[in-house]
Amino acid sequence: MKAEVHDLRGSRRCAPPRLLVKGQRVTLQVPFLPPNEEMLNDVIGEQTYDALAGADRGIRVPMALSVLNEGQYEDRLVSCNHLIDKRERLRKQAYALNSQIDRKRNNWEKKRKGSLPTVVLRKQRHLDALWRKVRRLDREVARQVASETVWWCEQHNVKTLFFEDLRSYQAPGGRGDLSWALNTNLWGRIFDTVRYMREALGHRYGGLWSVNPYHTSKRCHVCGKVGIRVEGKSSTTQRMGGEYFYCSHCQTHMHADLNAARNIIHVQSRSSAAPGRTNVACPCLSNLQ
Ligand SMILES: [Zn+2]
Repeated sequence: MKAEVHDLRGSRRCAPPRLLVKGQRVTLQVPFLPPNEEMLNDVIGEQTYDALAGADRGIRVPMALSVLNEGQYEDRLVSCNHLIDKRERLRKQAYALNSQIDRKRNNWEKKRKGSLPTVVLRKQRHLDALWRKVRRLDREVARQVASETVWWCEQHNVKTLFFEDLRSYQAPGGRGDLSWALNTNLWGRIFDTVRYMREALGHRYGGLWSVNPYHTSKRCHVCGKVGIRVEGKSSTTQRMGGEYFYCSHCQTHMHADLNAARNIIHVQSRSSAAPGRTNVACPCLSNLQ
């Protein structure tokens, strides 16, 4: 028995879960256990990684993925709408509450001095809690999107994954509630999580490159001509912020984010429709810049 326990302890490759108590909040920390080679081979079999993939920050979904494998493209839109809807609801609540508090506080301060009434303080605490929830949902979205991306990459033997560069912020193309414009902070978190997970699976630097997305969403991935955004799968009239991409030169219809993801794969090559800068996503390099 003792020997068995000793063996088990020896083979454990990460710390045990911990309960942390901080003030009134309790957090359960479960350390991430990267699968070892045996486990990986069991689940997905031995494989050679040789495919290239591109990831684009989508307008209506957090992540659009496209992989190029032996001349064939395969696409995937990663969404987690229930979490994003919830996040939007909470954000709206928080903004409403914020303006309420501002109004109450102004009224109070006009009339008298001294500390604020309990009503306002209570509302303020409620607001803080709402923002904490929004940030927690952000983390959850990043984790889910990243793990789905990494898993999909494993299934498609992706060696190198090209990401849109973090420093290029594009104004959201959608309208109002319909658009899920991923903010730069969240995109950076997804990027870091993907790198961390892929490094744990044995890819050097996570096999990630970041590319300058200049023109990747405007040009056609087939012929390289500038195309337009349209609303539907078969419409040909321009609509700003439309979900689909249409190239009038070669009649290509395509989901706009997937078109961009396919362009991102080729940014590094000279024959690309939208040539640009490419950086290896190496932690030591990003520290230098
Ligand atoms: Zn075209």
